[in-house]
Amino acid sequence: MKNNYNLQNFDLYRFIAKKEKICDKIPVFKFNRISDFKFSDNDSLFYDVSVSEDLGQYFFNLNINIDLRLLCCRCLEDVEFTLKTSNQYELVQAIGKSEKHVIDDIKIEIIDNFDLLSFIEDEILLELPTSPKHAFKCN
Ligand SMILES: [Zn+2]
Repeated sequence: MKNNYNLQNFDLYRFIAKKEKICDKIPVFKFNRISDFKFSDNDSLFYDVSVSEDLGQYFFNLNINIDLRLLCCRCLEDVEFTLKTSNQYELVQAIGKSEKHVIDDIKIEIIDNFDLLSFIEDEILLELPTSPKHAFKCN
């Protein structure tokens, strides 16, 4: 399902009001901070986002699936890492003026200029293993 949302200036208000769902992919080279971990320029990140409601409270559901090329900390060769996350964030009204989304494990402030692209990138960086290793004995 394609979408007409600008991921760097994501219209959360419309997304919530219409209870939309997006299932799409993003070329990995669009993420500055993780582009070193791609295999090629054709790599894509797959994601889906949706809104759900429970007792008047709205939640933002985000699933990410991406293959990354990390460096094995034992042999310093490439090691393929598949990152799959599935998270739910409570949507809360912004208190005061917010410049950028607040990185919070469980909440997203509803602001005009939500940067979903960097939010996804932040989530990936948080999930990266600190010492990636081959599954086999590589040293
Ligand atoms: Zn290794």
